Amino acid sequence: MSKWEDNVRKVVPYTPGEQPKIKNIIKLNTNENPYPPSPLVRETAIDMDDLKLYPDPAADLLVSAIAGYHGVDKNRVFVGVGSDDVLAMSFLAFFNSDKPILFPDVTYSFYDVWANLFRIPFTDLPLDDDFCIVPEDYERENGGVIFPNPNAPTGRKLELSKVRQIIEANRDVVVIVDEAYVDFGAESALPLTDEYDNLLVVRTFSKSRSMAGIRIGYAIGQEKLIKYLSDVKYSFNSYTMNRPSIVLGAASIKDDAYFKETIEKVVATRERTTKELEALGFKVLPSKANFVFASHDKKPAKEIFAAARERGIILRYFDKPRIDNFLRITIGTDEQMDEFIAFLKEFI
Ligand code: PMP
Repeated sequence: MSKWEDNVRKVVPYTPGEQPKIKNIIKLNTNENPYPPSPLVRETAIDMDDLKLYPDPAADLLVSAIAGYHGVDKNRVFVGVGSDDVLAMSFLAFFNSDKPILFPDVTYSFYDVWANLFRIPFTDLPLDDDFCIVPEDYERENGGVIFPNPNAPTGRKLELSKVRQIIEANRDVVVIVDEAYVDFGAESALPLTDEYDNLLVVRTFSKSRSMAGIRIGYAIGQEKLIKYLSDVKYSFNSYTMNRPSIVLGAASIKDDAYFKETIEKVVATRERTTKELEALGFKVLPSKANFVFASHDKKPAKEIFAAARERGIILRYFDKPRIDNFLRITIGTDEQMDEFIAFLKEFI
């Protein structure tokens, strides 16, 4: 190693799901929505001449649209480049203690990456045997708490009363609820942000709004929390949201009918797929997300993953303790799921 390498911040990066260049694949690996964004987004013009100018650093058009949608004041909304950006900023802003932050042992695998990047100590708390979060475990000294609801990659939801229990036990630290998948069936903690000044709820346009490619995420909390978050963001990069994202994101918010219709379709396909997988001998965790987490008692997940890939069906497999015999399967269109089930019938 060269001497200068001693001074390098060394990190083990997050591994995102594959984004294959091959055409005609069935892509069930990164929890995107199989349906396109609202037609209103397609019809919204982008003024190309405006691209010569920096965007509004406060992304007011988008922030106002989100605030209006959720019925909160504008100063309670923070936007970022995908919820990954919002979460990274939140780790930097709020998890600034020598005590470990807490999150589940099986959860979004970016949390420990950010913790390591920012040198934040952490403790991961085991989910129970049914892969549920145990609220009582979060009643210990810590430097902050974060968990997704529904959890990923399990898809399991946590009842709002239990979310409240975790917040109640942690009034001296910031609690972040990552609601990337909440629109597909869990109860949101957003109303609790009126009550608790230490609660931050993080959302994304990537899943239920079919806009993973535009990169919009947001957080809602009380004004003081959002101000602290904005101060960190403005100390890092003022112009995170580009002009097209601001305009197209605001357009998406206007089309609530399409948003609800798309969610209903994904949920119906999820329920049907779950039954079909169970009929084929899979154990499927009850999911409230746009994916299911499933394991087969006879065929190893790794083998199914590899065979599906051969057939152009891309799933997500995590070679990690507790979950290395599970597959995370994003819910696609009915036709895509039919093809996937047909493959499984043959393979299994
Ligand atoms: N949180 C969870 C739990 C996720 O699974 C994802 C998707 N990888 C994200 C946040 C980030 O999504 P995005 O940056 O696209 O908003």
